[in-house]
Parts: sequence; structure tokens; C-alpha cells
Amino acid sequence: QVPLKPGRSLMDWIRLTKSGKDLAGLKGKLIEVTEDELAKHNKKEDCWICIRGFVYNVTPYMEYHPGGEDELMKAAGTDGTDLFDQVHRWVNYESMLKECLVGRMAVKPIAAPKEISSTLSEEKKQLNGMLPEKKVLGASAKDLTPSYDWFQTDSLITIVIYTKQKDMNAELVIVDCQDKRLRGEIIVDDHSYLVEVDLDHAVQEDLAVNIAEKVGKVEIILKKKDNIHWKMLGQPLEHHNTFIKCKDRGLFYRKCKLVSKMEVTHDTKLFCLMLPKSTHLRVPTGQHVYLKQIIAGTEVVKPYTPVLPFLPLDFKEPSHYDGAHIYLMIKIYSCGLFTQALDHLQIGNYISVSNPEGNFKKSQVQTSEDLFLLAAGTGFTPMVKLLNFALTEVSCLRIVKLIFFNKTDDDILWRNQLEQLVLKDERFEVQFILSQPSKDWVGKQGKISSSLLSEFVKRSRTDSKVLICICGPTPFAEQGVQYLKDLGYSQEEIHTFTA
Ligand code: FAD
Ligand code: NAD
Repeated sequence: QVPLKPGRSLMDWIRLTKSGKDLAGLKGKLIEVTEDELAKHNKKEDCWICIRGFVYNVTPYMEYHPGGEDELMKAAGTDGTDLFDQVHRWVNYESMLKECLVGRMAVKPIAAPKEISSTLSEEKKQLNGMLPEKKVLGASAKDLTPSYDWFQTDSLITIVIYTKQKDMNAELVIVDCQDKRLRGEIIVDDHSYLVEVDLDHAVQEDLAVNIAEKVGKVEIILKKKDNIHWKMLGQPLEHHNTFIKCKDRGLFYRKCKLVSKMEVTHDTKLFCLMLPKSTHLRVPTGQHVYLKQIIAGTEVVKPYTPVLPFLPLDFKEPSHYDGAHIYLMIKIYSCGLFTQALDHLQIGNYISVSNPEGNFKKSQVQTSEDLFLLAAGTGFTPMVKLLNFALTEVSCLRIVKLIFFNKTDDDILWRNQLEQLVLKDERFEVQFILSQPSKDWVGKQGKISSSLLSEFVKRSRTDSKVLICICGPTPFAEQGVQYLKDLGYSQEEIHTFTA
């Protein structure tokens, strides 16, 4: 991110797009753009970029781009889809840049490869039990591709997915059923398998998911609305029966109901969202979701990291933490575009929540003896589930230490709970460090520095296996990683939470 000039925030951009100005520069016409034509528009003052087949005139957007003009210019006059996906694949540029639309790329006629056309014709067949596996991966990976089957009783439809993975668990299965549209996604390492069908008949709202962890079998059980015999499961949808890299799978959203909003500090609130009955979703430790709202007619998406409703002092999952709710601890910025809109949501209103994402692996903690958590401000959020997991499930850990950076003592999130946790578990320590302390503050002061880290991050033994997790404002995390490397910690010992 680069600092933007005043008057160049996302809200200012949204205002400009509503002003009626001709941002595409074509007086309302849409044209078909050839590759040669696109390539000609490669200067700052005349810059076109293609994203997913659509061409945008991004010159008016230059000064509003959070990544800076130079970043945008990397895609000038070319297909920028990969570049945009690499940086922020969740941002809906189609919505953000709709007023800059120049037109579509002209399609070059290409002969479809044989294999794809035969797969397509098979896909078009009605679904009736097993379909051939889609050949998305190479032959060697094919054996690992999950497959599915289905059967019915008078009242139930059961879809069985054979994941071919031993350690299946509830976090790796995401199921949604909206109207008659069923979507079941299975995460296998960095791949995603999808069953996506327009069901033959209507089903009831609630569904069940059973997982046989050892054999990797996942059952999705739907209740028929009418007890009639189904001739088939339904019509396959576009991405049905595909097994592709998670990063190539589009984000899927479902609408969740805001059920409560509680104050945590003067500017931070705990939002509780309820998943629909027809959704099975568990956000894994260390992962975030995206929230989506329409603000002034534009889709705006921001990432947030689910927490627990409180730090479980008795080290058991709280009984009302049932998987049907997602808790988010969110700081409301006084001039924040997204958080202001979020704060204005009423109890009972709905907001779209995506599938989880993130590259943190629990195994990183399971193999550690010393765990150091460096959090700044709301960078505390991923540490909540991580602390719970570390203290309840990882017996090899000898030290779990949170070093928590905030501006003032009023900003410290869950201070009381953290201090209680210190009393409950002798492996846990917490250190609060304030950058703008009041006169009464007797604790540590300052920002992240080499000397603070050399004082607080120390191996319990010279050969201890260490994991250091960092989360907070980007400069905080970047400086932290640099200081840790200077202190001799390796890249493998450091995990930074990012989007
Ligand atoms: P904007 O309109 O973008 O900005 C408003 C004001 O806030 C400006 O003054 C701006 O300078 C300041 N500001 C905005 N964004 C940042 C930032 N990232 N760092 C410092 N200052 C900023 N936030 C939470 O409160 N809880 C979470 O659980 C959480 N999880 C996140 C997970 C990930 C992976 C990432 C990348 C971010 C997370 N965030 C979280 C931050 C969140 O995504 C938004 O950036 C934040 O809510 C501000 O959005 P806004 O539209 O209200 O602010
Ligand atoms: P804040 O502005 O209140 O700052 C908290 C502390 O961070 C400060 O006291 C200071 O010690 C440190 N800090 C702030 N700016 C710094 C800088 N430029 N250099 C060094 N240290 C600095 O923090 P906030 O408003 O709560 O923001 C939290 C940040 O954490 C946001 O940027 C948010 O996007 C990020 N976040 C990221 C994730 C994630 O990637 N998974 C999750 C949650 C929050």
C-alpha cells in the first residue's frame, strides 16, 4: 500500500464514479478491443487494462489505487488478471471499475482441445450417480482426485464424497444449500474439490454433514421437502466435479444474520454473525474471511479474522460456541468506509461472509516448543484462536508468550481476560507495550524495536524449536520480521498473518 493524496480514498472514488463523468472516455459507447489496440494504451495518461476479458480505462483511477500508480502501470496495455489476482483477488474490480469499462476483448477463434470438448459434453449430461472425474490435474495427481456418489431414502438425499484423505475434519468441508443450489467444497491441501448441483427437487433448510475422519468419507445429508423419488441428483453447475488449486476457486459468499454487537473497547466491537441453517462452515485457526457490503452502489470487500466469543479460561470450547456463529472483533475507524457501514448494521440485518482463506498451518505450532505472538492493535485477532489451540491442544509447548503493542491502555483488547489466562496457565505470559502511554502507565513503552524483541523473544533453551507469529499494521509486521531476522531467527521460524 502507498499513502494516497487527500481526497483520493475509496469513498472519494465511489463519489467520482457516481458523478456522471465519462470515466471510460468513450462517450458511453462500449467497444470490442483487440490485443493490438489494448497494447497502444500503455501510458499513465492513457492506460487500459484487461481484467477477466473486460477492458477498463484505469487512467482516472490511478491516484485512487491503494497499491500506487506504479503497481497499476505494470499491467498497462496488457491482461492484468493475474497481477490483480495475486495482489487482492477478493477485490471486485468489476464493480469498482464499472464506470471505466471500455468493452470486451475481441475473442480469437481457437479450436477447443479434444479432451476439454469431450469433458464438456459429459458435463452436459444429466447427473445420475457418478460422473467421470474431470481431468484438471495431470495423470499422476488424478488418483488423488476426490469423487462422489449419492443415494436416497423416502425422506433423505445423501451425497457421499470420497476425499481419499485420511485426516479429513470439519474445517475442510464447506457446504451451502441455497434454494435448490447445492455447493459442497472439500479442501485437500492447497486444492479444492467441488460438488455443485442444481438439485432435482426442493430440500428443507437444514442439512447435516458427517465426516468419517479416518477413511476420509464426507456425507452431506439433505431432507427432501416432498417424499418423492428423485430420478437424479440434479443438473451439474459450471464448476461441478472439479479439483483445482484453492487460489483458482472463486470466493463464495453466503448471507449471515447479525445477532449481537458488544463493546470490547471505546472503538472496537465484537460482532456475532449467525450462519444460515443450510451452511456448514468452520473457520480454521489462523484464517480470515471476507465480508462484503454494497456501499453507495459499489461492492466493497474487506478481510476479517474470526475470534472466539471470549478467551476460554477453562480450556474447553464454550458450550454456545457451536459452529453456527462467527465472532468478529472489529475496530470501527471514525473515517473508515467499511467499518462505519458495518457499525450501522442493525441486529437482524444480513451481511455476506466468504469462505475462509489463509496460509497458516496448525502443524507449525504442533511441532514447536516456544510460541511467541507479536500482535499490534486488532492484529490480536488471529492470536485468539491460536492461543486457545496452543494452550488446549499442544502439549509440547513450554512457553506461550504474547507481546501486545497498542497506543494507549484503553486500546488493549481483552486485557482482563489475558491477565486471567496468565493465572490459569503457567506456560502463558503477556507483555503490554504502549506507544502513546498516559502518565500513569508503569509498564513498557515504545514501538517494535530490536532491543524490545531481544528482551522479550528468547528461546527457552538454546536448541528450542520456536515459532513466532506476527500480526498488525504492515510496517509493524515488516519491521518485526526484519528485527527477528537480524536477531538470528530464520524465515521458517516466523509466520506473518496477511491477506
Ligand atoms: P478505510 O476506509 O480503509 O480507512 C479508514 C481509516 O483507517 C484511514 O484513516 C486509514 O488510514 C485507516 N486504516 C484503514 N485500514 C488500515 C489498516 N489496514 N491499517 C492501519 N490503518 C488503517 N480489522 C479488524 O478490525 N479486525 C479484524 O479481525 C481484521 N482482520 C484482518 C485480516 C486481514 C487478513 C487483513 C489484511 C486485515 C484485517 N483487518 C481487521 C483490517 C480490515 O480489513 C480493514 O482494513 C479495516 O477494518 C479498515 O477498513 P475501513 O474500510 O473501515 O477503513
Ligand atoms: P493501531 O494504529 O492502533 O496501532 C497499534 C500499534 O501498532 C501501535 O501502538 C504501534 O505499536 C504499532 N504500530 C502502528 N503503526 C506502526 C508503524 N508504522 N510502525 C511500527 N509500529 C506501528 O493499530 P490498529 O488500528 O488496530 O491496526 C491494526 C492493523 O492490523 C491493521 O492494519 C489491520 O489491517 C491489521 N490486521 C491484520 C490482520 C491480518 O493480516 N491477518 C488481522 C487483523 C488486523
